[in-house]
Amino acid sequence: MSKRDYYEILGVNKGAATEEIKKAYRKVAMQYHPDRNPGDKSAEEKFKEAAEAYEILSDQDKRSQYDRFGHAGVSGNGRGGHGQNMEDIFSQFGDIFGEDIFGSFFSGGGGRRGGGGGRAARGVRGSNLRIKLKLTYEEIAKGVTKNIKVKKYVTCHTCSGSGAKDKGSVQTCGTCGGSGQVRKVTNTFLGQMQTVTTCPTCNGEGTTVTAKCNSCKGEGRVYGEETVTIDIPAGVQEGMQLNISGKGNAGERGGSPGDLIILIEEEAHKELQREGLNAVYELHISFTDAVFGTNLEVPTIDGRAKIKIPPGTQSGKIFRLKGKGFPAVNSYEKGDQLVHVNVWTPQHLSAEEKTMLEKLSNSQNFKPNPDKTEKSFFDKMREMFS
Ligand SMILES: [Zn+2]
Ligand SMILES: [Zn+2]
Repeated sequence: MSKRDYYEILGVNKGAATEEIKKAYRKVAMQYHPDRNPGDKSAEEKFKEAAEAYEILSDQDKRSQYDRFGHAGVSGNGRGGHGQNMEDIFSQFGDIFGEDIFGSFFSGGGGRRGGGGGRAARGVRGSNLRIKLKLTYEEIAKGVTKNIKVKKYVTCHTCSGSGAKDKGSVQTCGTCGGSGQVRKVTNTFLGQMQTVTTCPTCNGEGTTVTAKCNSCKGEGRVYGEETVTIDIPAGVQEGMQLNISGKGNAGERGGSPGDLIILIEEEAHKELQREGLNAVYELHISFTDAVFGTNLEVPTIDGRAKIKIPPGTQSGKIFRLKGKGFPAVNSYEKGDQLVHVNVWTPQHLSAEEKTMLEKLSNSQNFKPNPDKTEKSFFDKMREMFS
């Protein structure tokens, strides 16, 4: 996509003076400002385009580079409009026009960008709270509802969080008359402009407290405890975080509460190990069970399961119990349980056992022969037809 000419974007001619370019930019920026064109992508593009054009044409060096070499002469500078995010552009209006013009012009006095007025939310937001929660494999596999006592700031019951002694001690702010904003008229190069800022007396809350609540000393919250009910979905993993909105510390003077962040920890299991979605069990069987085969039970995260050990099972063999692992937290996928066979080699033998085994030690059948184990399908077919 070829770039439009910067002069054309701002609608000025090549010889335009700096002041003229500034005025032109202001006009175009206000026309395409996102507040006036909500959700309009092409307006947003034009808005960014204008910011880029202004950035180049307002700078003597960049402008002369552009005049000589066109877009190629000024490309690659880090602050070009298309590489610039909206917040950057907004914050530059302050530098360019001496104040946040959009704060006062577009939002009916309630500025949406820093420096503009607007009634602030009541009080001060509470901080987030982070707690660790240990879960067993069984709880993780099925999901679990936990009631946890959380020590934290809770809303003061005496004043319901207002921080005021009684209704009469909350008064409309005298400085701003309750609006939370103060207006100021200033002279700028464009003539008189009205700016709106947060009321310094009440910090934008619109009210002041003349007598503080005794229980919370005016803070609107006290340190206490709350039982929080948390639904843990099945399949969570060590290190995952769950965000419980609004269950963190209560805010000051009616401010919104912070969030409760639950950090998941896995409790070590006596018999099983987790590997992603799979559960792994180290099974130890006797030498004779490996030789003759056997039926036995193994623990799983969902009770015990029967497995069959066929005759001639080697150490290291892995049996897979389909679907006996952990569920995935965000899908229907489910892991398996892997049963890892370890053949137990006896370490202490009676004299009699020794004699018996010694008789067998020279038997050809007792010599390891890894090539002959686990015959493949093709080997079996070959044997059948040869
Ligand atoms: Zn109170
Ligand atoms: Zn005020």
